[in-house]
This record gives sequence, C-alpha cells and structure tokens, in this order.
Amino acid sequence: MVDIASYDKLYIGGQWVEPSSSNTFEVHSPVTGELLGSVPEALEADMDAAVAAARDAFDNGPWPTMPAAERADAMQRLLDLVYANADELAQLITAEVGCPILFSHFGQVGAAAMVLDYFTNLTRTYEFESVRPGMLGPVLVRKEGVGVCAGIIPWNVPVFIMMLKLAPALASGSTIILKPAPETPLSGMFLAKLVDEAGFPPGVVNFVPAGREAGEHLVTAPGVDKVSFTGSTAAGKKIGALCGERLRRCTLELGGKSAAIILDDANLDEVVPALLPYGIMNNGQACVAQTRILAPRSRYDEVVDKFTEAMAALKVGDPAEMDTDIGPLIAERQRDRVESYIAKGISEGARVTTGGGRPDGLAGWYVEPTLFADVDNSMTIAQEEIFGPVLAVIPFDDEADAVKIA
Ligand code: NAD
Repeated sequence: MVDIASYDKLYIGGQWVEPSSSNTFEVHSPVTGELLGSVPEALEADMDAAVAAARDAFDNGPWPTMPAAERADAMQRLLDLVYANADELAQLITAEVGCPILFSHFGQVGAAAMVLDYFTNLTRTYEFESVRPGMLGPVLVRKEGVGVCAGIIPWNVPVFIMMLKLAPALASGSTIILKPAPETPLSGMFLAKLVDEAGFPPGVVNFVPAGREAGEHLVTAPGVDKVSFTGSTAAGKKIGALCGERLRRCTLELGGKSAAIILDDANLDEVVPALLPYGIMNNGQACVAQTRILAPRSRYDEVVDKFTEAMAALKVGDPAEMDTDIGPLIAERQRDRVESYIAKGISEGARVTTGGGRPDGLAGWYVEPTLFADVDNSMTIAQEEIFGPVLAVIPFDDEADAVKIA
C-alpha cells in the first residue's frame, strides 16, 4: 500500500504557502471509505495569489524568453522524476480514484509521461522563429507562449489531464495555474512536489486545488490569458460563456458517448475482447469510453451474447490488484448517478443481460458491469454519458444506418 501524504500548504510562486483559509478537501478511499489524506482548499484569495505569481513569471521572465533548449531541460527533469516515481504515483491514483492499477500504470501515469516526453522533444526541435516572404519583404515570424494559462482538471484521469495542459504550456514558454478537482487533490499535490523538485523558475507552475466557485474566480481573473478546461458539458458551457464574454482564449474538452461499429463480417472472438477495454476503461469513467456498441441486425443476438459473456467474466474487486478489471466508482454520488441511469434504461424498455446491481461482498462504491440489449439510440442510456461500467448494444440495418446512429 502506498504511503499517502496529506498537505497543509498550496504550491504558489515556487513555494509551499499557507492557504488563505483553514478549509480542506478530505479524500476518502472509494474502496473502504477510510480517510486517505487531506489538502487545503484554495479560495479566491489563493487564486489571486497564484495568478499574480504566474503573471509575474510570464511578464518578467526568465521562462518565456529563455532558450527553448533550457526549457526542455527543465521539462526533462520533471519527466525523469515522473518515471522515477511512476509506481508510487500509479498506486496513489488508484487509491484516490479507484481505477484498476493496470489502468493507472498505462492510462494515468504512462500516458502523462508520454505527453511530457512528446512536448519535451517538441520544445527542442520546434521552429519558434522563422523568416517568411512577405508582401513588402521578408517577415520574421516568432511564435510565443500565450501567457498565463488556467488549467481546470476533472477527477477521472487527473495526472494525465494535468499533463495535457502543463506540457504544452511549458513548451511554449507560458506559465500555468493548475486547479485539480476536489475529488483528486492528492495526486495533484504529488505532481506539485515533482514540479518543485524539478526546479522551474518561481511562478511558472502553480497548484491550487479548489471547488467550483474559486474555479470560476480563476477562469474570470483579469490576469489569465487562456483557459483550458476538461470536464462535464454543463461546466464547459458555463466556462465557455464566461470566456466568451471576455474574448478570452478557451479550450473545452467535454463529455462523450462514443460508438463502436461492428460490421457483419467481424470475427467476434477477436473484436469483443479488443473492444471491451475501451468500453469499461477507468471503470467506465472515461470521456472516450466506447459505450455504444453498434451491431448489425443480422448478428445482433450473437454480439449481445458475446458481450454478455465477456462482461460477466470481468473481475470486479480491489483496484490495487493487478488482475482486477473493475474497481469502485469515485464516490457514492457517482454510484447513485449510474444506478439511476440503469433504472432509467429498464424503465425505457431496454433489457439488462448481465449486471444491473451491486456486486456481493464489496463495500465500496461498486456497480456490476452492466450490459443493455434492445437499446434504441433515442433512449436516455444511449444519449447521455453514464460514466460507469454500463454498455448498450444498438442494432443497425446497414453501414449508412450505423454511421448515422454513431
Ligand atoms: P466537472 O465538470 O464537474 O468538473 C471538472 C472540473 O471543473 C473540476 O475541477 C471542477 O471543480 C471544475 N468546475 C466545475 N464547474 C466549474 C466552473 N463553473 N468554473 C470553474 N471550474 C469549474 O466534471 P467531473 O465530474 O470532474 O469530470 C467528469 C466529466 O469530465 C465527464 O463529463 C467527462 O466526460 C469529462 N471528461 C472529458 C475529457 C475530455 O478529454 N473530453 C476527459 C476527462 C473527463
């Protein structure tokens, strides 16, 4: 079991600083409910301090103006630390999120390292300056960092998504304030420790775990040049509107309801085991999860039977064990949400072929891997993101119909 640290300070301006209030986020294990650790909750005043630090680091340098190769060296130091601490970080994320440890290794930490590795190399090779022909003679084109970035992070893939925002900001010479979600501040602060150890100039990277209100304060803070948000569609609409009012650059990565199309000549013995991990990835709490399985009407029953069999055989249990396929959902409220979708699917006429309830003998926030057959694409369970281990098999007539449904 990983040794989980609690924190009593925020990471702002290259230092561990006292938070403005005594508010904390407590993180409880989704498996046992026990307290894993706590982290200070950043409020508006802390956001202002983080923005001021990031602003100063961008406006007064040296980060944006130093040779790109030096920025890449600092990024490489962070990458080396991510590799050196990969096992511990993966165990921490599994403890905090409840995702199977195998997924933590490749989907949480490995993916984060891959992104940082990519941007570190890009920083070394990118043509930040070039001369191009212009109407009145040669023009020097210089690509510069956008400025102070705010990264708003969801709980499901916390470190990978932080890295998707951090690595390009670092590469371009921007500075950043990362706001981990209240559910996963421990992995956020673990990354803050690695950033601190890697040694960036003060204020280049700041970590302020916070809730919605302080998050909105950050999104609208006058010193922020760019907002990058990953999370729910509802929050994305709000953040997009706030940025629109300010003509502030904004990137939104929101929810999903991806479809996998199985064609009528598919070898189901190969396709089903290949597809299933994408459907139930991260216990189904993934924006890219392929949760709608589109099956040709001629082979519909066969597809349903194969998926039913495969889902019933999944190992549900302790996410810290290497052979566990499905762990608990992040929180009780998430389990309530998934169960309400299962009830809705049944009430709208879909048929549960496996699962549908809670597994016996497991106390955490578990839901059985659940397959729905007889699903029409207009049903709620086919239209809305469930964010749990629940898949729906939808019939199609021909390829054009499949594409339309997808
Ligand atoms: P959420 O929208 O509730 O929260 C995401 C983050 O935004 C959290 O840090 C939260 O504190 C913050 N937040 C919420 N409202 C805010 C506001 N008004 N102003 C500023 N910050 C605000 O989402 P969640 O429940 O943490 O994550 C699950 C969702 O994220 C799912 O819908 C999932 O599909 C989506 N997601 C998308 C991607 C992607 O790449 N497209 C990746 C992962 C997750």
